[in-house]
Order: sequence, then C-alpha cells, then structure tokens
Amino acid sequence: MERAIAQAAEVGLTGVLVTPGPDLVYFTGYRPLAITERITMLALQQGREPAMIVPVLERPDAESSPGASALTLGDWSDGNDPYAASAALLDPKGSYAISDSAWAMHVLGLQQALPRSEYVSMTSTLPMLRAVKDADELERLTAAGAAADASFEQIVHVQFAGRIETAIGADLAGFLRDHGHSEVDFTVVGSGPNGANPHHGIGERVIEEGDMVVLDFGGTEDGYRSDTTRTVHVGEPTDEEREVFDVVRRAQQAGYEAVRPGVACQEVDRAARKVIDDAGYGECFIHRTGHGIGLATHEPPDMVEGETRELEPGMCFSIEPGIYLPGRFGVRIEDIVTVTEYGGRRLNNTVRELQIVS
Ligand code: ZN
Ligand code: ZN
Ligand code: ZN
Repeated sequence: MERAIAQAAEVGLTGVLVTPGPDLVYFTGYRPLAITERITMLALQQGREPAMIVPVLERPDAESSPGASALTLGDWSDGNDPYAASAALLDPKGSYAISDSAWAMHVLGLQQALPRSEYVSMTSTLPMLRAVKDADELERLTAAGAAADASFEQIVHVQFAGRIETAIGADLAGFLRDHGHSEVDFTVVGSGPNGANPHHGIGERVIEEGDMVVLDFGGTEDGYRSDTTRTVHVGEPTDEEREVFDVVRRAQQAGYEAVRPGVACQEVDRAARKVIDDAGYGECFIHRTGHGIGLATHEPPDMVEGETRELEPGMCFSIEPGIYLPGRFGVRIEDIVTVTEYGGRRLNNTVRELQIVS
C-alpha cells in the first residue's frame, strides 16, 4: 500500500481507489464473495491512514480479511447515500487512480458527490504495481503451472477422435481440479478449423482423425493463475502440419531466449514474430506474443510491439505465438515465463514437441 501511494504521488495523483478485484486482493487479501452494486472501496492516500468502506452487511467478512488490521474500516447501510460516505474519505479536489473494474455507477456517484475530484484508470497510470512478483507469489504461480502441465500430460491419453470439444474441455477441467486448482477459468478446445480462430472457445464440433487441436486452459490455485497452450494432432500429421507446428515451436523458443532483465517487452514479441515472419507466415500471427499473469490471467505488461517497459526479475508473463490458417487449422504454444537475474525461467515445462493423440 505504501508503494502504491508513492507511485501515485510520483505521477501527481492524490491517491489510489481500489474496488473489488485483483488489486484489492493484492493489498488486503479481501475478496468479497459477491461483487454487487453496493460499493466497497479502499482509499490509499498520502498523509492519511489506509481506509476501506464496505456495505454494513459485509463488514464481518471484511474484518476477517488478512489485511484488515492495517486499515481503518468504515461502513454504510442500505437507505443511506453510499457516495456521501465514500466521499468523506477523499480530498474534494483530489485526483485519483481508480480500479479499471470499478462500476461506472460508482465513479459517477463519486463525481457527483465531489464535483471537483478527478478519476483516471489505475492500469494506465500505475501499470507495474503488481508486475514484479515476490518469492511467495512466484511459488504459487510455479505450483499453478506445474498443475497445468500435469493436466496436459493426462489429456494426451484420452480419446479425442469421435468426441465433441466440450467433452475434452470437461476432462481438462477435471484434471486441473485433481491437480489442485480451486477454479477452472477457461478450457479452449479448438479442433480443426476452429483452431484457426483464436477467439473460439469450445463447442459442439466432433473431433476427427486428422485434426489439429489447440488446447488452451487455465485456472486458479492459491489465488494465482495458470494459463498454458499445447496443440496436439489426432493421428499422423501431414508434412505441412508438422512444418507449421515447428515454426511456432521455434518462435516460442526464440521469444523465451529473448527474456533477460533490461530487455524491452516488445523485444520478446519481435523475437517470436521474426521466426514466423521469416517462415512466411507473418500474416497468420494475429495477436500479441504475451501478457502478464498473476492474480489475474491478463495483466500488465504485454509482450507487444510498442511496449518499451523493461523486463525486471520477478515479472511473469506468457509467451504464446500462434499461426492461424483460416478454415483449416491453428497452432499455438504457450508457456508462462518468469524473469530471473540471468534470463527466463519457464513455469510450464511439459513437452513442446507435437504430441499425437488418438
Ligand atoms: Zn491433420
Ligand atoms: Zn492461454
Ligand atoms: Zn495467455
């Protein structure tokens, strides 16, 4: 919380306002069971004690959260104006970074209560707040990655041909839970032409012999996220399929090898993209190379052209190049990587060669 206050002051802001979501968990460990229209807000400001306001009915939960002892807790009850109560914590002429996920009705309510106050997006003003992970966070992310790897090692032994994508997704979800995930956040199963659409989630298509199948899955273990992708083939692949797969595998490796402290994030993207460009598939790699990960599956920094911030030891992010051939098939390989003093360390370590399934 001190670091957030200092970072806000550096960019000329009065403080930081945090509503339920990953940032609130990061600061206080408080995760309201249901995020509702009732405002919960933590205010971190220079020269004031950290203060959090909650609906009175949720006060017992907030009081029992790990960080509660470091906060002044206030509450408001139904029938009273929650924005008057929230505004009492703030500087009437203050400018605040506020959680990106704050409900618009809350921001508008604060603006109405304090017409001279100003609000900016937390992610665009303090993007690096959670980017560098400490030893405890790294341990949790490592465990989440290992659980995802173990799930992949099981899924290659299930029957693919003749089953629908959602059945494979259900198998994956079960494996993730077996290996310690408390929640499964997504299971993408993109078979055949569906794999060529990076936005395809999962569907009713029956998987056939000859299909490439993109498996992108992840969830939550001890509060921290996993996110990994492997592409498998049902039966013997064609030469072209092998070639496309190999280009993606080499691109992923090149992105990984670019990781080192002091290197701009965009260099990781460039290194992976160069391999795909050189192989003639540049136009088929239609997304960024990676995204930060931690309490949220997607968080800053992105591995993308234009992101000039430099890698620092402790950052964690995905490296996930892909090639998508519309109407035919797609290939993506994704590992979570952390930056060490000497280079990158992968948190996903399962086999990256093309696996044949039946
Ligand atoms: Zn095939
Ligand atoms: Zn993914
Ligand atoms: Zn990802």
